[in-house]
Amino acid sequence: KSGFIAIVGRPNVGKSTLLNRIVGQKIAIMSDKAQTTRNKIQGVYTTDEAQLVFIDTPGIHKPKHRLGDYMVEAAYSALREVDAILFMVSADQKRGRGDDFILERLKKQEVPVYLIINKIDTIHPDDLLAIIDDYRQIMEFKEIIPISATEGNNVDNLMATLVDQM
Ligand code: GDP
Ligand code: MG
Repeated sequence: KSGFIAIVGRPNVGKSTLLNRIVGQKIAIMSDKAQTTRNKIQGVYTTDEAQLVFIDTPGIHKPKHRLGDYMVEAAYSALREVDAILFMVSADQKRGRGDDFILERLKKQEVPVYLIINKIDTIHPDDLLAIIDDYRQIMEFKEIIPISATEGNNVDNLMATLVDQM
């Protein structure tokens, strides 16, 4: 089994922390040159049965200038080529306009989108349901998976779910 997976989300939600935890192998393509291509490969998760290639798609955020529109379009067209998208949010931050901008776009395409609620170690378990409810009203996700990237909570389950889908 193999697949390409994009992780998207606002800065500081924990994307790099999760990648560092799950990706054992950084591949040779990660040169400066590769970073100029639209899909920057972050690393590969490998088990006996699966290989998942994680990519970063920069420029997914709301453009500050009209000139930025082209970059945003390029980023979203790259997203149409992956097998799954992880939309990551942080449990300790309220949903904002940055999240809504991304979600409006993700909603319109056919690639399955997983909502990853990170930093669950920072909240009381009772507060998780309210967060889930809030995002559910915006769009229908393939699955909603709460994790802590730093503590490692539920990360195994996330990986198993992704491998299952491939
Ligand atoms: P990125 O900008 O989305 O790549 O976010 P980073 O991976 O750089 O993380 C931003 C900050 O959040 C760092 O200080 C991390 O240590 C912290 N962080 C990431 N994941 C967690 C988590 O699960 N729990 C807590 N408490 N902090 C986290
Ligand atoms: Mg990062």
